[in-house]
Amino acid sequence: MLADLHTHTTASDGELTPAELIAAASEAGVELLSITDHDVADAYAALATPPGLTLVTGIEFSTHHARTGVHVVGLNVDLDGDAMRGALAAQRAARTQRAGRIAERLEKRGIADALAGAERHAGSALVGRPHFAAYLVEIGACTSAEQAFKKYLGRGGGVIDSWPPLEAVVGWIRDAGGDAVLAHPAKYGLTRRRLSRLTQAFRKAGGSALEVVSGGQHPELTHELAALAAHHGLAASTGSDFHRPGQPWAQLGRHPSLPAGCLPVWERWS
Ligand code: MN
Ligand code: MN
Ligand code: MN
Repeated sequence: MLADLHTHTTASDGELTPAELIAAASEAGVELLSITDHDVADAYAALATPPGLTLVTGIEFSTHHARTGVHVVGLNVDLDGDAMRGALAAQRAARTQRAGRIAERLEKRGIADALAGAERHAGSALVGRPHFAAYLVEIGACTSAEQAFKKYLGRGGGVIDSWPPLEAVVGWIRDAGGDAVLAHPAKYGLTRRRLSRLTQAFRKAGGSALEVVSGGQHPELTHELAALAAHHGLAASTGSDFHRPGQPWAQLGRHPSLPAGCLPVWERWS
């Protein structure tokens, strides 16, 4: 089973429209696909899937735990029910509040009009850090988005606590009948000990699976994460975290398969 359960579209910060993403995934041989945009589910509004490809509903929620910004993917969720409607509204409010706080912090550092500038770059999308980065580059405060993140927007822009805590986010996903997946566990820069504590808290909150494979990662890391999932009694998920073509480490359906011994999260859905 070629599964890609972590992808983005133009509904959040991806470059392909939902229809383009589905076509590209099908082309890449993906059999089981989930679109997991950041805190929005707009990609699912009207989608046709080609034969041979099964689409499972998904979302990527921003949250935090122990002063670390964390992402949780929700899979196989009921997007139309009250639980998910409430969750999406809460995340929208949190994102708006966070944007205001980021702008305030930038103002204190001598960057004027950041909120209006970021909103302009966001267009119809919800404002996120990449839009602040684009504004900082536009006004010449930074030479690149990368530098903007380093200098001004790192560690969640300093406002990760704008997001609801881990327990709340996992609760929403469960209430929507879905499985919560701890996304890209190696990307939080945590020591092994702290990652194990995060995984334990995630499991305790009702989490189902660990993203054992995220994009083109090193086999050694895959085995370490498979062991971590097994240790905490979690199933395993896998995905590219695709955002756009041209990023060789995150191409649709090109990530390594789950190691033997993992319990694939999709086996819970049959
Ligand atoms: Mn993203
Ligand atoms: Mn993420
Ligand atoms: Mn992602």
